[in-house]
Amino acid sequence: MTARLIDGRAVAQELRAEEAVRVGRLREAGVTPGLAVVIVGDNAASKVYVRNKTLACEAIGIVSHVHALAEKTTQSQLVAFVRRLNEDPGVHGILVQLPLPPHLDARAVIETVDPAKDVDGFHYHNIGALVVGDPAFYPCTPWGVMKLLEHESVTLEGRHAVVVGRSNIVGKPMAMMLLHAGATVTVCHSKTPDLGAMTRQGDIVVAAVGQPLLLRGGMVKPGAVVIDVGVNRLPDGKLAGDVDFESVSQVASAITPVPGGVGPMTIAMLLRNTVRSAERVAGLATRAETRIA
Ligand code: NDP
Repeated sequence: MTARLIDGRAVAQELRAEEAVRVGRLREAGVTPGLAVVIVGDNAASKVYVRNKTLACEAIGIVSHVHALAEKTTQSQLVAFVRRLNEDPGVHGILVQLPLPPHLDARAVIETVDPAKDVDGFHYHNIGALVVGDPAFYPCTPWGVMKLLEHESVTLEGRHAVVVGRSNIVGKPMAMMLLHAGATVTVCHSKTPDLGAMTRQGDIVVAAVGQPLLLRGGMVKPGAVVIDVGVNRLPDGKLAGDVDFESVSQVASAITPVPGGVGPMTIAMLLRNTVRSAERVAGLATRAETRIA
């Protein structure tokens, strides 16, 4: 079998076009959606991610402000800064780019973000609401995966989904969203004794690990749909996912590439969250409009 390629760039482009229309409607109503991005220090990868996010915002008419704070910024300065953004009516979404320098407590900073502007969906309030099934914002990466599966008409109800990785930003919310969509979900992690035995049971396998080429062809059930969230830099400078594309694409029925799979979807969902936040402020959207099901 040679798997169908799931083109995240194309799907993200469609979503961005939809958001551009909604931004136009908001602007006509006198509201310009605003995203504030806070970045602390000099992490080169973070700077690239922030640049990609802000360019995507500008392309559809969201105003984005990057607040680049010095590496030596203290916890109380950062918290005070985020609080000011909470109060700013022109800011509909606040994103604190992670990782923060080690002297800063990222969790405490995230908890300072107003849950109604938490477009990353990382605040306890939104994580807890996600468990119940009604968050103000879904975390962008797993939500992007859900949109890809929806776009590919992948049936989730009654199927077995295996998520590899249990981080708070990808693995756990991913498992929760798949569960809400009616899948039976297995979550694997570094302590899972026989990973292949688990992943071979998956009709859908989502790899969010951070280990290049971990998932190989022999670990996948024939016909499975495989989503590769991983972004890993190889010693030769090339990007690789967590999935060995060459062998897995011979077994799976559909697969995302890296790059060009989940990455563009993460940004598209960030735009969507920011636009929905502005729509709520403008009275143009209800909370229910952001739901996945
Ligand atoms: P984390 O490092 O926070 O979590 C990795 C998870 O993988 C952990 O739960 C860990 O288990 C598990 N794990 C590690 N090694 C193994 C193994 N050998 N077998 C099974 N499980 C293992 O990473 P993130 O969730 O933040 O990110 C995962 C990947 O996704 C990274 O490559 C990251 O760059 C990428 N990413 C991509 C995004 C995109 O937009 N495309 C957005 C966000 C992340 P344990 O908990 O036991 O330690």
